[in-house]
Amino acid sequence: MPQIIDGKAISTAIKDELKKEVAENNIKATLAVIQVGNDPASTVYVGNKKKACEYIGIGSRSYELPEETTEAELLKLIDDLNRDDGINGILVQLPVPDHIDEHKIIERISPQKDVDGFSPESVGNLCIGREGFVSCTPAGIIELLKRSGISIEGRECVVIGRSNIVGKPMALLLLANNGTVTVCHSRTVNLKEICKRADILIAAVGRPRMINRDYVKEGAVVIDVGIHRMDNGKLCGDVDYDDVSDIVSAITPVPGGVGPMTIAMLMYNCVKAARQVK
Ligand code: NAD
Repeated sequence: MPQIIDGKAISTAIKDELKKEVAENNIKATLAVIQVGNDPASTVYVGNKKKACEYIGIGSRSYELPEETTEAELLKLIDDLNRDDGINGILVQLPVPDHIDEHKIIERISPQKDVDGFSPESVGNLCIGREGFVSCTPAGIIELLKRSGISIEGRECVVIGRSNIVGKPMALLLLANNGTVTVCHSRTVNLKEICKRADILIAAVGRPRMINRDYVKEGAVVIDVGIHRMDNGKLCGDVDYDDVSDIVSAITPVPGGVGPMTIAMLMYNCVKAARQVK
């Protein structure tokens, strides 16, 4: 039987640690959450983020803007929130509507309030090993590994996916933790062979159950970042869990693996932002 990495339990432990820190140190923090339009998935994510703030004892202020909001209006709101001393973190729920340039929006958020860790300054800091906000999903994966007693140092790590929010920061974090890292993507040749080398395989492909046992070395640790809703209403990941579970040493389930960690690390970043101000 593989070790099932319990993201729900680990994320709750992190939130409880933060809750204690906030209460004991009387930390005052408020997260501004901006949603443009009413994409149902975004509404659920935003709701979960607000609930998590409440759980750890920090404030949240929501801005639910209509789909027609212009780029200039959104930039103006960000400028106002950047100047507002009562706000420690600013998050714009992605994706934004097509008429708004996502990069411009992310760049406008003050680096001191960039709790998603998506700004060029945050990514640059991660790249050169300086302190800063780290993208929540990959940061959560490092916590999952560490808190499950899985060491990264010297191990062969393969990341499938090179997106700005998962694949690339994931690779940088594994490197910072002394892993030997390979990044694969849609143009990679010999994907299966490369994946089969991995001691730690991170699947962030966005394709339901693509990663089966043909991609996995016996005894590997498999981290599944994907989330997909199937026709029967159930969730699955990028990994074919049933196919690989008898050959891996450890694996994250979907749901209950990586998913809950993203919000826990967002809360970590919000508390970090408030600590910097104190
Ligand atoms: P994305 O679509 O931006 O990136 C997917 C990456 O996979 C790309 O870099 C692409 O090159 C690569 N890819 C696509 N097809 C491939 C193939 N056949 N072979 C090799 N590489 C291929 O997706 P993303 O935003 O990085 O998210 C990846 C998955 O993780 C999605 O399922 C998404 O829903 C999920 N996700 C989960 C969380 C969470 O909190 N658990 C957070 C973010 C994303």
